[in-house]
Amino acid sequence: MAEEIKTSAKVDIPKILTSQRSFFEEGITFDVSERISRLKALKKLIKEREKDIAEALFKDFKKPEFETYATETAIILSELKLIIKKLEKWAAPKKVKSSLLNFPSSDHIYPQPYGNVLVLAPWNYPFQLSVSPAIGALAAGNTVVIKPSEFAPATSQLTKEIFAEVYPEAQAAVVLGGVEASKELLEQKWDYVFFTGSVPVGRIVAQAIAPNLTPATLELGGKNPCIIHKSAKIELAAKRIVWGKFINAGQTCISPDYILIDKKKKTEFTEAVKKEIKAAFGESPKESPDYARIINKKNFERLKAMLEGQTIITGGETSADDNYIAPTLLNEPSLDSEVMQEEIFGPILPVLSFSDEKEMEKIIAHYPDPLSLYVFAEDKDFLEKIMTTIRFGGGTINDVVVHFANKKLPFGGVGSSGYGGYHGKFSFDTFTHKKSISKRATWIDIPLRYAPYEGKLSLIKKLMKRL
Ligand code: NAD
Repeated sequence: MAEEIKTSAKVDIPKILTSQRSFFEEGITFDVSERISRLKALKKLIKEREKDIAEALFKDFKKPEFETYATETAIILSELKLIIKKLEKWAAPKKVKSSLLNFPSSDHIYPQPYGNVLVLAPWNYPFQLSVSPAIGALAAGNTVVIKPSEFAPATSQLTKEIFAEVYPEAQAAVVLGGVEASKELLEQKWDYVFFTGSVPVGRIVAQAIAPNLTPATLELGGKNPCIIHKSAKIELAAKRIVWGKFINAGQTCISPDYILIDKKKKTEFTEAVKKEIKAAFGESPKESPDYARIINKKNFERLKAMLEGQTIITGGETSADDNYIAPTLLNEPSLDSEVMQEEIFGPILPVLSFSDEKEMEKIIAHYPDPLSLYVFAEDKDFLEKIMTTIRFGGGTINDVVVHFANKKLPFGGVGSSGYGGYHGKFSFDTFTHKKSISKRATWIDIPLRYAPYEGKLSLIKKLMKRL
């Protein structure tokens, strides 16, 4: 599988940032039509390089072309289409109702780019998760430095080529490298940082940018529960879960991490899952062209170790030569076991059962706030209870993962799964400071607020009551 990019020692990071600061100060990015024409050029180029993107992802971890299109390229193209269509409107100052207290005035919100943005991306959707925040930042009128993951080198290299063809380095630069490059980037002063990755590194990022009070979005991970209620349509649940769990070989931040199922439905569910795995990937998923590999040896070994001592319902086969781990179902691992200690981030799905709702709630509460939660049920009261009482980033009812695809829904975590959200208009908002302006008229100056205050208190009280 993919060889890690070792270093970016030749890249002069402070020099790039200095050039981006000057570029921003020149005001070129304030021109919305300039932003749109670059984004159009980027869209055209991504379309032209669609095959190359698929090849890069295949080289990095044998990601099937269909999955690359559906979960990387198509998402970016549709995001770009929306931005190009709406940017003029989003970027225009918005008139808001003015306050009687300021009479007479006219009030506006001016969308203002932050300035110089840093995007740090992970390896699991290496194209989408580098490009999606970057186009949000550029659309909002910022410059951007993107640091894609060192663990998806072919895709990261291609991302660099694509941006270099459309943008001057002073506006958008892709810096290749690993932890050292990341650390050096974080030593600089940014106006906004957008980080996607693990919880421990998220903490490092938050600490690194705290001295400058840099605003940030942290898109992190966690253990995502997938609840199956006794009222659920089990066969359909199994089909949808097999798709959402094993796409990208389970290396998805919003992948269902573990199943929590009503005891009475467990056998029906596990049998249905076995059938669906066979239907999707055949008798031997290793031979299937539709099943990706684990990104690298380190993660392969980490996942393999999670299987040790567990009761396997189906799957469990591994092969070190190409970092293959079969789609695997585990039976009732204890909460102390390795597989239930951390985010799995691979094609292993523990099945835990519960006898009553209290037991289910206790297991969910055992873990920090998940990025996603899924629930399969036809019982409306049960669904309502889950939606209103449990804290999680976002989720899907009667399916998994697909809430990610709706650009009208902000995507992000809560608590330890991160903060901030993006996609569609939310991306533009993320990278935009909303500058609030009251424009006072000068033809009159109402004296109420000025000292001396004698005799004015009752008047202001009357006025405040009307607001
Ligand atoms: P990671 O946290 O190891 O790396 C992410 C980025 O941070 C990379 O660019 C890496 O070079 C950099 N980095 C790593 N160590 C660093 C350090 N010590 N200091 C500074 N920078 C450092 O994450 P990963 O392994 O690439 O991705 C998997 C994780 O990302 C999972 O936890 C997953 O849940 C999460 N994730 C979250 C989302 C989301 O949208 N919330 C999406 C995808 C992945």
